[in-house]
Amino acid sequence: MVRQIINPYKEAVDIVKEMGGEALRLCYQCGLCTGACPWNVLKSFPVRKLMHEAQLGLLDFEAEDMWACVTCGNCVQQCPRGVEIIDVMRAMRRTIVALGVGPVPDSLRVTMKNLAGTGNPWGEPTEKRADWAQGLNVKPFSNGAQMLYFPCCTTAYDASVSRIGKATATVLQKVGASFGILGSKEACCGESARKAGDEELFQRLVQENTAAFAESGASTMVVSSPHCYYTFMNEYPIAQNGLQVLHSTQYLAGLLREGKLKFSKEVKKRVAYHDPCYLGRHSGVYDEPREVLSSIPGVELIELPNNRENSICCGGGGGNVWMETKPGERLAEVRAEQALDVGADVLALACPYCMLMFEGCLTQDVLDRLELRDITELVAEAM
Ligand code: SF4
Ligand code: SF4
Repeated sequence: MVRQIINPYKEAVDIVKEMGGEALRLCYQCGLCTGACPWNVLKSFPVRKLMHEAQLGLLDFEAEDMWACVTCGNCVQQCPRGVEIIDVMRAMRRTIVALGVGPVPDSLRVTMKNLAGTGNPWGEPTEKRADWAQGLNVKPFSNGAQMLYFPCCTTAYDASVSRIGKATATVLQKVGASFGILGSKEACCGESARKAGDEELFQRLVQENTAAFAESGASTMVVSSPHCYYTFMNEYPIAQNGLQVLHSTQYLAGLLREGKLKFSKEVKKRVAYHDPCYLGRHSGVYDEPREVLSSIPGVELIELPNNRENSICCGGGGGNVWMETKPGERLAEVRAEQALDVGADVLALACPYCMLMFEGCLTQDVLDRLELRDITELVAEAM
């Protein structure tokens, strides 16, 4: 049976056109977006064709392509007409979720259900949200503390990623910072929900977190995840509420400049840094992670072929971290090969999603040759 491509739901097409905005009309089919997409390395992903179909209202909402975009932003950076391609991709998903005009991948559906029920993607109990900090003497945030630490759901609940939170807490304690956590009072920032098209759930999480931050009275918040950072900075009413948000690498670079980050040990490693899309391209933070890494005694910082604004996504953005990553479609493997090719012993990361993706995608053979370390872990080791 031939599938219906001309979408019968006028409302659905209108939502996509509206969210794509005026800029979508400017697309003149140059195809630079398709060429810029990291999926090119592994499979065909017809970005230009999707933009054209969105212009014409001829989208196939049942196609797998609806869910492939990792929202890395490389195409947007290259587009000569200023088309906000990620907004168009998000609009397609929002249309599918809101109007049921196409299938939502099962794993993503479960994740969104968990988020709606418990405020975290795994559906874990909220009272376990601070368990990652057990034995570290990390206190609940109180009004007198200098800063609030927001670890991200992945750091809080995933056993292999919680080492990012532990290292961050250790560093904060060693520099004498007074900080605390909200534990069960915080919820997911909601970035995945928004990118997966569940706008209603995203708005609910914004409201819950904004109220919790306001109630805490915190004026500075340090976060581990670039996804939380980007979302708080750009999609929450944080600035209006007078809350300063810093990614952990920005905070560490600040300490370094003030002479407050002191090292006592060498970490003799060749370290390549992977720029996370939401810290680099989306937030413009390229220098601070490198500043911190190069200050660690013994570290030899080497650059990957696709670095800074040309970085390749780990494959986890845009909600893809919650979907199955098929063999042969693992961008993390491409990135790890690049790191091994430049002679790195360590791939330095600055994002819990990146850590989850690399750990989940790389074979033991690669992991035996390439250590995955968050920047805070390398800092903690050298202190
Ligand atoms: S790069 Fe921009 S103008 Fe060119 S095809 Fe893609 S969206 Fe259209
Ligand atoms: S945002 Fe990234 S993954 Fe999505 S279409 Fe653009 S280049 Fe491809």
